[in-house]
Amino acid sequence: HELFFYFSDITKLQDVNNMRRDFFENVSHEIKTPLTSIKGYSQTLQSINEDKDQAEILDIISQNVDRLDELINGILSLSKIENEGKIEVEEINIPEFINALINDYQLKLNEKDISIQINEDNLKTLNTDKRLLYHCISNLITNAIKYSLENTQITINYSSNKDGSYISVQDQGVGIPNDKIARIFERFYRVDSSRSINTGGTGLGLAITKHSAQKMGAIIDVESQLNEGTKFTIFFPNKVIES
Ligand code: ADP
Repeated sequence: HELFFYFSDITKLQDVNNMRRDFFENVSHEIKTPLTSIKGYSQTLQSINEDKDQAEILDIISQNVDRLDELINGILSLSKIENEGKIEVEEINIPEFINALINDYQLKLNEKDISIQINEDNLKTLNTDKRLLYHCISNLITNAIKYSLENTQITINYSSNKDGSYISVQDQGVGIPNDKIARIFERFYRVDSSRSINTGGTGLGLAITKHSAQKMGAIIDVESQLNEGTKFTIFFPNKVIES
């Protein structure tokens, strides 16, 4: 009898979760359509407009549309990752994967004159979900660029030993205050929201990284020194660690 209630409670919980996911996804898609239209029309106006003041206003509209779009994409990604049941494991060639990722970021790296150093040690392949790994590492690289000063270096390390495999992203950026580190993986949490005006960002990146890592059975670690830099490490244990 009790077992029946137990199962029915789990089913109810799954139903509520599915409803929540569907709600987020529907609302996000509904918002995306008018947003695309606003973006298109403001771009058309920008291209035919010759008034300097109006050009500035159109620029602000465009920036805010991009920000909303980034937010919706973040909410959609997080909702999908959280609610996906099973992951699709494949063998990933890590040097190729990292090189392709860096290529995607080349423009942003050039804009800030940031160089990339890669240190590899004994990690050729990793068996995991490629899309989750992409979410995980690309958000770390995005942040490393965002919170770095110009003319600095980002180091990507990947290695393996008897315990497991490691991928880390280290920057020489602004760093994170000690008393704030515990909260950075919370959704929408930003250390200094006034800084967001300059850097952009939604406060969802690290929540996506954390959830992707968890789904892959990986563990995330962060070390940071204010005004010196930050290092995020994703550890993929060979054995499943009981928590
Ligand atoms: P955001 O969109 O604000 O970057 P994230 O969830 O990716 O959101 O990160 C949360 C907060 O953690 C950021 O607002 C920033 O204050 C801090 N942070 C994340 N990565 C770094 C980094 N590499 N260097 C310094 N601060 C960082």
